Amino acid sequence: MIVASESAVRQYPELRLTRRSARPEGTVVTVRGVEIGGPGIVIMAGPCAVESEPQLLATARAVKASGAHILRGGAFKPRTSPYSFQGLKEEGLRLLAQARADTGLPVVTEVLDARHLELVATYADILQVGSRNMQNFMLLQEVGRSRVPVLLKRGMSATLEEYLNAAEYVMSNGNPNVILCERGIRTFEPSMENTLDLNAVPMLQRLSHLPVIVDPSHGTGHAWMVPRLACAAVAAGADGVMVEVHVDPANALSDGQHALTPDEFAAMARQIAAVGQAIGRHMVWSALAGGSAAEVAR
Ligand code: PEP
Ligand code: MN
Repeated sequence: MIVASESAVRQYPELRLTRRSARPEGTVVTVRGVEIGGPGIVIMAGPCAVESEPQLLATARAVKASGAHILRGGAFKPRTSPYSFQGLKEEGLRLLAQARADTGLPVVTEVLDARHLELVATYADILQVGSRNMQNFMLLQEVGRSRVPVLLKRGMSATLEEYLNAAEYVMSNGNPNVILCERGIRTFEPSMENTLDLNAVPMLQRLSHLPVIVDPSHGTGHAWMVPRLACAAVAAGADGVMVEVHVDPANALSDGQHALTPDEFAAMARQIAAVGQAIGRHMVWSALAGGSAAEVAR
């Protein structure tokens, strides 16, 4: 068996703040009591886009009941076509705050442009910087100054060095609370939206102390693949997953093709807990009867 020596992994000395040796014990980002990067596996779930009050509330309640820890939902959507649904914008943010009040779940939502930062930060518990903005250096600097935790998605063509440099932009502007998210990269393979790069999980964790989560929804583009890749991500050591869930995927205004139904999500959450148990990580079920947090599969 060939065992790679430490020196076989390239080091990036210019990554002053993000490199593993800057905080060997690892970073835990805590959001309203939810720890990302700690021993527990964290599940972020919700629709691609906030579409309406009934859609968001039904989805939020369902994912909470099945074990999700954080609610996701886009209010400002980066769409390939200018004619596609662009999100409900401020109304979407208001609905996210309403869903948070209803379920107690913290909210992650995308900030598409530095001009919206103040507004989005008023509502968001975590600011998402999307794949397309990973090298929008002005936006990275602004979210760095905001101090709200940041979920930084990997650019679809970014190397890990470029990716960690993007995180370095946020951290060097004063914000230490960065969560990395592998969401698939562009390859020569056309049968899936992207190719989920699970290699990136252990390598990012070796190179950096930041928490790493995985988005198998955009990483595959197919709902039927999502539970398997979510389990694979946890097996690869990810600190959590972010998945898209919709109460009616066939009529979703964006990304219905890879949205799980609430029932599919519930089944996946149980599988994730079992995989976690197999590798010695636990899952905190935040939504058991009575609302008290309980740890299972320790
Ligand atoms: C999203 O999570 O809603 C999204 C648009 O993802 P990405 O930036 O990874 O494409
Ligand atoms: Mn989406």
